[in-house]
Amino acid sequence: MQKYRKIAIISAVLILILLLGMLYINKKERKNEITYHDFLQYIEENRIEKVIIGNESKLKVKIKNEEKFYKVENPRNPSLKETLLLQNIIVEENEANSVSTILQGLLIIAFFTLGFWYVQRIWKKQQPKYSMAMNIEDSREQQQKMTCFHDVAGNEEAKESVQDVVDFIKNPEKYSKYGARMPRGIIFYGPPGTGKTLMAKAIAGEANVPFFAVSGSDFVQMYVGVGASRIRDLFKKARTEKKAVIFIDEIDALGKKRTGGSVGGGNDERDQTLNALLTEMSGFYEDEGIVVIAATNRLDILDEALLRPGRFDRHIEIGLPDVAGREKILRIHGKNKPLDPHIDLKKLAQQTVYFSGAMLENLLNEGAMIAAKKNGEMIHWEDIDQAFYTVVAGSAKKDRSGILEKDQKITAYHEAGHALITKLVAPENRVSKVTIIPSTKGAGGFSMNIPPDKMYYTKKELEHQIQVYLAGRIAEEIIFGTDEITTGASNDIEKATSLLKDYIMEYGMSKEAGLLNINVLLEMGQKQIVQQTLFEECKKQMNSLYEKTKNLLIKNKEMLDRIAKELLRKESLVEEELDQLLQVSNLHY
Ligand code: ADP
Ligand code: ZN
Repeated sequence: MQKYRKIAIISAVLILILLLGMLYINKKERKNEITYHDFLQYIEENRIEKVIIGNESKLKVKIKNEEKFYKVENPRNPSLKETLLLQNIIVEENEANSVSTILQGLLIIAFFTLGFWYVQRIWKKQQPKYSMAMNIEDSREQQQKMTCFHDVAGNEEAKESVQDVVDFIKNPEKYSKYGARMPRGIIFYGPPGTGKTLMAKAIAGEANVPFFAVSGSDFVQMYVGVGASRIRDLFKKARTEKKAVIFIDEIDALGKKRTGGSVGGGNDERDQTLNALLTEMSGFYEDEGIVVIAATNRLDILDEALLRPGRFDRHIEIGLPDVAGREKILRIHGKNKPLDPHIDLKKLAQQTVYFSGAMLENLLNEGAMIAAKKNGEMIHWEDIDQAFYTVVAGSAKKDRSGILEKDQKITAYHEAGHALITKLVAPENRVSKVTIIPSTKGAGGFSMNIPPDKMYYTKKELEHQIQVYLAGRIAEEIIFGTDEITTGASNDIEKATSLLKDYIMEYGMSKEAGLLNINVLLEMGQKQIVQQTLFEECKKQMNSLYEKTKNLLIKNKEMLDRIAKELLRKESLVEEELDQLLQVSNLHY
């Protein structure tokens, strides 16, 4: 609003000055004018010395014994010159304007240009807010700086899994030659501020191609058709570049699962925009190096239509950084700041559990602002300490005092339990990562890859799998006592139950229940019997597996402790690190 007032005032002043100037010039000229009638009179009286005839509407007349020129209406009469000459009057024909008029003109032009330039400059400054097209351009300008993988700390797995995308953008022909279908749509999912945008920019930077960014939320509350045409414009722009990265932040604003039963109902505009996006994506040519990257906080709320093969079919999690990742991020953002060399970034990383990259960046920035206010020479630990409370103020959970410690310890033992039991009973499975940093998939994080090249699972394997599910809760129980077990295991229990139900009623693997299929029995109307048998048998089997697992964990408690402690220290362990730990002492099977 401030800016608008400024523009209005400046325009008003400019116009006023101009009007006054014109008035002044006009008045001055009026005084020096004589009528044509008088002019003819003067000629007859032989009082005229000289006349200047120009292209202007006025003639300039010099009267004898007077210094200045008078102006007279120019009748544009070709015979006028002759008449004057016959009267012995000097006639000067002047094509150009007089010097003063030229000067006046120049001044006015200069004045206008200056004013126009100034108003435009102010106008331009606030333009991007209002125009989407400008937004796109903006992101391209920033590209000058060229983000690369070096600027993204942590997220090593994600970086690895997009390496081939960079290569594809650079040499799409190579891939099309082999008939390889590269993913054209990638989804980055994970909590806010973890560097999804940064990673997309880095891909563009590494491939050295333009980066176009829009946000799904820009498209909400638009008139029908506008969103779709913006999407088409965006892709047209990218296509003219041949190779590009298109980034769509907050894709969920466009492609959220349809809720409610009404088929085809819902938001027309959103659907049209989404359809335009999918249509554009399916229209890529083989040799075009264009990749669309979308970001969302949650993958599970997206419409399946978006996730189908040929659309956004590669999903990469960008999670919160672990302690090593946090340290790297702090180093990157501390580089251009005068940090007191005594500041221990490793220690700071340890104290910032659950911080996202953006929060860490913000922490250092707030620290720098506090230091700047003090006019100090550098940023001290106290400044960062003070900044800490500003940054975490909004999020109650993120406190580096003792509150977290218990939670973390519980998570550490829970995850260690899963990992250890996997290694004990199902070593053929790969534990790709154990972490105590929560992921979007749930509290804590434990990921195991069951060998995919399997057609059948044996009875033993299913039992082992259930044991792995149970191990988290059991570890909690062994360490903290039966009364201290937590809600953290709810998801595990659900999975274990579901698997056990199939074990009993689909695969006929339990002796007691025998070779009966649950669905067939239900169809036969045996609801009562089915429920009774299923419940009893499930309970029995689950208890037996529970005891088995508990014994195993108690026998290996020393190792459980070791893994949990290492998890607390490093927050995440990859398989090699886990194996190294396990080698240190004997396991009891
Ligand atoms: P998202 O898109 O996931 O919400 P952004 O990419 O917008 O997160 O991250 C915001 C800012 O936080 C980045 O510009 C960067 O300064 C910082 N940041 C976040 N993650 C990282 C990271 N892994 N490495 C370095 N800086 C990061
Ligand atoms: Zn668990």
